[in-house]
Amino acid sequence: MISQSQDFEFELQSRQCRARAGIFHTPHGDIPTPIFAPVGTQATVKALTPAQLLEVDARLILSNTYHLYLRPGDQLIAELGGLHRFMNWSRPILTDSGGFQVFSLANNRKIDENGVTFRSHIDGSLHYLTPEKSIEIQQNLGADIIMAFDECADPYNLEYNRLALQRTHRWAERSLAAKTRPDQALFGIVQGGIFPELRLESAEFLRSLNFSGYAVGGLSVGETKDEMHKVLEAVDPILPESKPRYLMGVGTPLDLINGIQRGIDLFDCVLPTRLARHNSVFTRSGRLNLVNAGFSRDPLPIDENCQCYTCRNFSRAYLRHLIQAHEILSSTLLSIHNIFILLEIAREARQAILDGSFDTYANQFLNEYHPINEEE
Ligand SMILES: [Zn+2]
Repeated sequence: MISQSQDFEFELQSRQCRARAGIFHTPHGDIPTPIFAPVGTQATVKALTPAQLLEVDARLILSNTYHLYLRPGDQLIAELGGLHRFMNWSRPILTDSGGFQVFSLANNRKIDENGVTFRSHIDGSLHYLTPEKSIEIQQNLGADIIMAFDECADPYNLEYNRLALQRTHRWAERSLAAKTRPDQALFGIVQGGIFPELRLESAEFLRSLNFSGYAVGGLSVGETKDEMHKVLEAVDPILPESKPRYLMGVGTPLDLINGIQRGIDLFDCVLPTRLARHNSVFTRSGRLNLVNAGFSRDPLPIDENCQCYTCRNFSRAYLRHLIQAHEILSSTLLSIHNIFILLEIAREARQAILDGSFDTYANQFLNEYHPINEEE
């Protein structure tokens, strides 16, 4: 068993049914949980400056190993002082292992016991990613939280998931063995598709390896919400109470509430910034598309109860005008709002758990929110 640094203590402050409130201590500051982490794929949260991320009080951001390894290169980032300095973000950062992107973006993938051969989606160059290589890249980048290298398999193929899970477990052991930096916390990733029995087996195995935290991976890849919830309910009693739990790649207002209700502490998703660039915003009652002509003379903010910079200063009519005129400020203003509202929901949920009123909070939220489709 490899011991983890004391810098990464997780303090569980309160638990109401399955919902948890805590603080994860890292070398770049405390992360209050539950929390939503905005995604900065290429060492930038699209359309936002670090100052704007501080203004919405983002406490943790995520960056993608696959992208930064291919461009500009992890060695270059290490030479320039690491990812925090390179992108001028002094609060905690999480990097993924590169696994998910290799399986979703790269060309000509070939998996063997040792790792994955693939061609870059940028220039077609040939690369070989292994657990050891993924950890080496993540050590060069220097994020506070790093992830074990895993395979994200087709969630519905039981036979393949059985095989892939055993390999992912061997890769988890190799990821732990490869890690040398004491100022980084390594999280293991529970896999197993939509199959609760495989998820359970995976959670039990990874728990025995004593990671600093545990992620649930391979979700939000086409399965139903009901299937996702069953997976979360299966792993919740197995994962250790004393470590943070991270639901990867999931983050709509509904997902946050549903995940927190099932014991999740940490979420990340590209959706708030991606939707913003497609003119769509989250509100407390559902999603709005600001292109709608009905907003052309609307003097109200996106959400009258929202305290974000965008809602305090701009009308729906102005935002719609920016969109119609193809002004890039619309991406910035909509991204500020979408990230703020997810952070705010996580802050409210956290306070409700501490106050013992989370059930009331969650029920009220779910009653008022009207999803437009299953994706929400
Ligand atoms: Zn707002």
